Amino acid sequence: MKLGVLGSGQLGQMMCLEAIPLGHEFYCYSPDQNSPSQKVGARETVASYESSEHLKKFLDTIDVLSFEFENIPKQTLEFLKQQKDTPVYPPAQALIIAQDRFLEKSHFRKLGFRTAEYFHLTKDSSKFEISIPFPWIIKTLRFGYDGKGQVKIQNRTDYKVFLENAFQNVGSEYLIEEVIPFQKEISIILTRFQNGDIVCYGAVENEHKHHILDLSIFPARIPIGLNLESIELASKLALSLQYVGTMGVEFFVKDNLLYLNEFAPRPHNTGHYTQDCQSFSQFYLHVQAISGNTPPSDVRPKPTLMKNILGNQYEESLEITKELLKDDRYRLHLYGKEEAKPGRKMGHMNFKGTLEEVNPLFHEL
Ligand code: ATP
Ligand code: MG
Repeated sequence: MKLGVLGSGQLGQMMCLEAIPLGHEFYCYSPDQNSPSQKVGARETVASYESSEHLKKFLDTIDVLSFEFENIPKQTLEFLKQQKDTPVYPPAQALIIAQDRFLEKSHFRKLGFRTAEYFHLTKDSSKFEISIPFPWIIKTLRFGYDGKGQVKIQNRTDYKVFLENAFQNVGSEYLIEEVIPFQKEISIILTRFQNGDIVCYGAVENEHKHHILDLSIFPARIPIGLNLESIELASKLALSLQYVGTMGVEFFVKDNLLYLNEFAPRPHNTGHYTQDCQSFSQFYLHVQAISGNTPPSDVRPKPTLMKNILGNQYEESLEITKELLKDDRYRLHLYGKEEAKPGRKMGHMNFKGTLEEVNPLFHEL
């Protein structure tokens, strides 16, 4: 089949690396040239997400459309909802919800899920009294990633300072959230197939450094009941969105209770461990789901760790990978990005084993 994807970064690259051996042709579309996806054989269209002319041509070329990036302009997503010629998996509506933190949290609440208390802050609503106890995190309503566009607000004075500059750009909107003093962060990576079947390996535990994912530990060290509940909530969410493909759902765990934070309508950084968990990777499952295949019936993922490699001290990290790669339990995945900038995700390393077994050097990557 001809698979088309909006976005051309590392997630598209890893989808492409699974799609080609399965006999598919892989097409990517984004404004960026020489993209990570193109580097591994994706046929690249370089055009604006807003160009209906290029977009139509792209849709005419492919058999099915998917995404590796959720911040596609809303008008483009509305256009994709209207057109009926090319199937779109996951549905564009899932992205419309995921890219607006207020719509997203409201959707969770409609489904009866526990979330942090929140308030939709606009110029108009900023005159109202807010009953959420401090401290807060204020997040830009759209386009946040890796904690970008977030500020912590400890008290009324901080909030006053925040408001002084908050609406300098016309139309700025935010979500105020109560800070959840969680004990752990976990996520669910699941793939829903066109027949409604779901493949999910259970929760993975995640540690962040400076708001960027640092380490994932599979399986998550949480009670089995909580693990089953997180799978159930994520499955309910997928069903409510008529989702097809792989998605990531992030939770906070506090006092044995699950708080839904957000979901990503695409393969997720916390699911990269699946590439070396000795079962099917999240990208393989995504490709199988969007191309109309049936799910595998026997999956036996093994304990795996994933560590992100950022642009900070990149050369040193590469030296460490050379040492670790002498042991066949380590696997390196670099994205081929041109420039290493601090905070930029350059690649990741997986370890086929547990925290007790891993070489301490792994933590220095
Ligand atoms: P990413 O792209 O990395 O998923 P993001 O910018 O979309 O991040 P969030 O996932 O909402 O934003 O927040 C990033 C991190 O900030 C969370 O993983 C968590 O560690 C912390 N965080 C966010 N919201 C809260 C909250 N309400 N209470 C406590 N911590 C929070
Ligand atoms: Mg997040």
